[in-house]
Amino acid sequence: MSDLEVDLVCVGFGPATAGFLTTLARNPDLESRVMPGMPLQVVCYERADDISFGVSGLVTRARGIRASLPDLDTANIPMSAPVRQEKLVYLADPRATGRRSPALGLADRFLQTLNAPGHSIELPYIPPFLRKHGGLVMSLGQFLQFAGGQLMASGAVQIWPGMPVAQAIIEDGRVCGVRLTDQGVDRQGKPEAGYMPGMDVRALLTVVGDGPVGAVGRQLEEAFGWPQGHEQREWALGMKMVVELREDSGLQPGTVLHTFGYPEPEIFGFLYAQPDRIATVGIFVPSWFRSPVRTAYRLLQHFMLHPYLWRSLRGGKLRSWGAKSLRESGRRGEPLLAGEGFARIGEGSGSTNVLTGSGVDEAWTTGVQLAEAVTELLRAGKPLDRAHLEPAYLRRRRGSWVEQEARIAERARDGFHLGFVPGLLGMALAGFTQGRFGLSGAPKPMPALHEYASPEWPEIPYDGQLLVSHQDALLMGGKVQAPPGYADHVRFQDHDACARCGTKLCVEMCSGQALTRGAQGAPAFDREKCVHCGACLWNCESHNLVFQAGAGGLHSSEN
Ligand SMILES: Cc1cc2nc3c(=O)[nH]c(=O)nc-3n(C[C@H](O)[C@H](O)[C@H](O)COP(=O)(O)OP(=O)(O)OC[C@H]3O[C@@H](n4cnc5c(N)ncnc54)[C@H](O)[C@@H]3O)c2cc1C
Ligand code: SF4
Ligand code: SF4
Repeated sequence: MSDLEVDLVCVGFGPATAGFLTTLARNPDLESRVMPGMPLQVVCYERADDISFGVSGLVTRARGIRASLPDLDTANIPMSAPVRQEKLVYLADPRATGRRSPALGLADRFLQTLNAPGHSIELPYIPPFLRKHGGLVMSLGQFLQFAGGQLMASGAVQIWPGMPVAQAIIEDGRVCGVRLTDQGVDRQGKPEAGYMPGMDVRALLTVVGDGPVGAVGRQLEEAFGWPQGHEQREWALGMKMVVELREDSGLQPGTVLHTFGYPEPEIFGFLYAQPDRIATVGIFVPSWFRSPVRTAYRLLQHFMLHPYLWRSLRGGKLRSWGAKSLRESGRRGEPLLAGEGFARIGEGSGSTNVLTGSGVDEAWTTGVQLAEAVTELLRAGKPLDRAHLEPAYLRRRRGSWVEQEARIAERARDGFHLGFVPGLLGMALAGFTQGRFGLSGAPKPMPALHEYASPEWPEIPYDGQLLVSHQDALLMGGKVQAPPGYADHVRFQDHDACARCGTKLCVEMCSGQALTRGAQGAPAFDREKCVHCGACLWNCESHNLVFQAGAGGLHSSEN
């Protein structure tokens, strides 16, 4: 039985949905079709306990955001600043501990002979596709709080945090709304005292903006398939720390560093300096990183300790910490954008651009495009079915800068399957030839632990402030919470397959140490430590791990 009927229901409140709702809210005169005479009924459900618990870098050129919010004053958004200085830095391996190809080893030795300061080289040139000149550094949490606050004040839409959507309701090949997760259940999902079955919310249109690993987006991909030639292949885990810098760190607000080369060649890094002596520092661990030893937290600590960065970070304090997956396939991983009763926006719709290193503005802009399409149809009295929605939405999307740049980036990263240097060359080729040329390579299987020569990393010199244990970071930096009464959102289908699985990449890659090698069969899952990064999902190469919608996770509005 339906508990609620609305015109539009949105899944997730990230930048994509924020862009969608901001645009829609500019049309307060739109009339409801399910409640004639009333304003349009729009409701958005967010999984996390607050609307500001997103995780991102972030530096953005903010073209789409500024087009929507022309009067945007960064002074009104804490932790934001205009980009003032940008550098692209190659980080050599100061101790020759990482995995270097002969070419990179040679480059490192050359830098050593030059006595390069900080074992690094600041490149004299930043390719135009990577530049964020004229853009902003921000905190995604603070930006979402700002955008969400304005939306809630407008009264035009309702946003409900702490409400995970379990699934889309699909009837006769049509999405008719969503079902929220059951509450008052045990870890296996069985009703307990206080059981409350998840409410059904029926809607004319379900807008899915649930990000890279959203359960609803993946359900639609399974139910409706992929457009021909499209697939979701490449992923990455982004992990970051928000650091309170010492007084004389030397980093000016608006400084943007893009790094490559360390702690492993395949790991790109970033540092963005924000106002009030805050910096965001982080790394991306891609799915094509052929190491079964891929604990991102450890790699992030080694990254921060690189002499080039440590001279600014030394003496800093950990304020916050977070991790989240990225869909790196971009446009090649674009699912069906509009179907009967549903439309997809944001990263889950393939908007993230790995060449420009940008996803927030793209996600926002796809939300704006869908809102414009929906508004056009509502005003014209036309139905929100696939026949009308698809052309209205796709016309805007295909004609935009998001699409043009996504096409250039489509195969930009394929060269990394051939090695690090071919990967960089492939990116440069794609960027400079507008995507006409690139280098291609297919994914190689992950080596087993016994085949892998693990680099000899030094111990982390814990200081109790910035360099803290993984467990302490969960308490200090992310403040992970897991409200009781929800089922476990990570499960294992075939326990025997887990018992046979040697590398157990899901455990190795777990951002919160929520997965540990269980006594027998499947790994053990501790919901109290899960940051909902989703890395376990794509690191299980045998697709044996089920990742459902869940409540809780990180509680930091600074990420
Ligand atoms: C460490 C890191 C650094 C990054 N750096 C940058 C950068 O510098 N610049 C840049 O432009 N981009 C950057 N990105 C990428 C950028 O953050 C994403 O592309 C962007 O956030 C995508 O927006 P979205 O709205 O599509 O999805 P998301 O931001 O992922 O939002 C989706 C929302 O849906 C919610 N949700 C999911 N499932 C459900 C459900 N079942 N029910 C209810 N709610 C649900 C989630 O909790 C989330 O709030 C970075 C990402 C990471 C992880
Ligand atoms: S879930 Fe996948 S990766 Fe994890 S132990 Fe089981 S089979 Fe291995
Ligand atoms: S169990 Fe949670 S924290 Fe660990 S990888 Fe999966 S989603 Fe991330």
